[in-house]
Amino acid sequence: MKIALLAPEVAPYAKTGGLADVAGALPRCLSRAGLDITVFVPFYGEVKRKGLTLVKALDGRPLLWKGGTERFHVWADPTTPYPVCFIEHDGYFDRDGLYGDAAGDFPDNGERFAFFARASLEALKALPFEADVVHVHDWQAAVALAYLRRTLAEDEFYARMRSVCTIHNMAYQGLFPPGILDGIGLPGRLFHFDEMEFWGQVSFLKAGILYATAVTTVSPRYSREIQTPEFGFGLDGLLRQRTENVSGILNGVDYSAWDPASDVLLPARYTAADPAGKAVCKRELLKEFGLPVPRQDGPVLGLVSRLVGQKGLDILLEALGGLLALGTRIVVLGAGDPALQNALLAARERYPSFLGVKIGFDEGLAHRVYGGSDLLLVPSRFEPCGLTQMYGLKYGAVPVVRATGGLDDTIEEFDPATGTGTGFKFDEPTPAALVGAVRRALAVYGRKTAWTQVLRNAMGADFSWDRSARRYAELYAKITE
Ligand code: ADP
Repeated sequence: MKIALLAPEVAPYAKTGGLADVAGALPRCLSRAGLDITVFVPFYGEVKRKGLTLVKALDGRPLLWKGGTERFHVWADPTTPYPVCFIEHDGYFDRDGLYGDAAGDFPDNGERFAFFARASLEALKALPFEADVVHVHDWQAAVALAYLRRTLAEDEFYARMRSVCTIHNMAYQGLFPPGILDGIGLPGRLFHFDEMEFWGQVSFLKAGILYATAVTTVSPRYSREIQTPEFGFGLDGLLRQRTENVSGILNGVDYSAWDPASDVLLPARYTAADPAGKAVCKRELLKEFGLPVPRQDGPVLGLVSRLVGQKGLDILLEALGGLLALGTRIVVLGAGDPALQNALLAARERYPSFLGVKIGFDEGLAHRVYGGSDLLLVPSRFEPCGLTQMYGLKYGAVPVVRATGGLDDTIEEFDPATGTGTGFKFDEPTPAALVGAVRRALAVYGRKTAWTQVLRNAMGADFSWDRSARRYAELYAKITE
């Protein structure tokens, strides 16, 4: 089985969120399981500047583009067990930032990712790599299926390829003015209700949903949620039409990168059986956030997140007074929306001894937040899968999550009576509900036997990729039968 996986970000090369972790770990697992897989990702400026030793796989391939010819190169990482191919076009990709900079999204994102998608398909033929399945992730890659089904369908090389479109977040759809089609080599007739048109614009994600052989999303609950008006962002009707072909496969955790027993990014290592190192992590974390280390140990709450509306930071901000009144210290690592950044920094001014805030994207610090926190907060308004709660589990930062999407699928409320469960959940997206869940968690935190039990359950929970990768492999097999 040959799989071409197209993604706009892949860990450890380029990452802004969970998609990168998925596109990094899933192919490794599939390749271990014997599938022949090639990954395609844009050759961003930040990847170039990492100084990796890459080999040139394709040189100066021409593509008809915007009424002329554009050339691209393909570079491959020789150190991975399967090819990770970087699509090089400096005009589009050699910039600071993957999708935008301080001024906002790049204005030519539609063109940039259409080029990435089209060039990846071109590379398949040139290499050649006769994929059985083209697996596209999110709108940036989903547009590839418009080419596959609408402009390349007559070409025998492409005609037999099946496809999977994985939606990591319905909130991001890749909407562009209708005029884009001509420039990116797609026929104007695709600006039609039954094709890529969406409320007067062209939707790249709609192409993925419409043209894919199968559509997946990253948790079972989210696959049901997106078929409702509340979570479907206007595409729920189309998803309902395709419901037979829509499924949810939970993301996994790459425990080779996320394990406190071996994590070199932590100041000390620990396990559930030997947790002493966690106390070191906790002390060092408070120091790293510039918070005083209290003489008497108390609960530390951590949060690692993109700062966008989805993540419920407004709920946290409003709950701060109530949470700190419970005797907690809170550390927040995040980057994104300037208004949320400023609100967090202003809150830190207000509670300088109790609230630590770091603005920026910092992989090492993210690991240390999971390592040094007792509770991990995930107050999302919606959450397709969520990885931070799964990292929290493994690192003994017991998750306190809103019961939505993948958060609801992965966390089981701890029951002190039976000793089962891995975290604490709340339903309403309100500060009172968040504070209530933290209060329940702290009642357990205060009782050594019960806390040891919830830690053991959390750290022992298994979300390794193998099971999820098997589900993808089964799906590939089913659609190519
Ligand atoms: P999303 O994909 O919506 O951002 P996920 O929970 O699926 O949410 O994945 C988030 C990933 O990004 C995790 O690996 C998390 O550790 C990481 N992350 C988020 N914000 C930051 C940050 N500011 N610094 C470092 N890592 C971050």
